[in-house]
Amino acid sequence: MSTATVEAAKPLSPLAVRLNEHLKAQTPTGAPTLADRCDSCPQPARSVFMFSVAPDPDGTGAEAGGVYLCAHHIRRHIGALIGDRALLSFWVEPVELSHFDGVDAPRHNAHKSGDGLTDA
Ligand SMILES: [Zn+2]
Repeated sequence: MSTATVEAAKPLSPLAVRLNEHLKAQTPTGAPTLADRCDSCPQPARSVFMFSVAPDPDGTGAEAGGVYLCAHHIRRHIGALIGDRALLSFWVEPVELSHFDGVDAPRHNAHKSGDGLTDA
């Protein structure tokens, strides 16, 4: 007789598996800065997805470009973005992935307790 819970037996979605693997390997390097904004709205960027692009000799000649998304737009678009063949790399604030079923991400940022102004 199995003692596994129903939840443990539930298979993870391919998206959840991919995001879990990504979070294990993700380092703080590559995170958007506080000045970066979502490409779809005025909210702060919480993720960046780097895509290969054909370099334009009349442009910057860059071979990669980033798509910056806020928390709301991560949830809306991450499935399509990480399935794109031109995706080179991506960085996502881990707490923003806690809304996805099966993704092992922290529910809250590890903020200091208190009001942020004092040590209380
Ligand atoms: Zn947004």
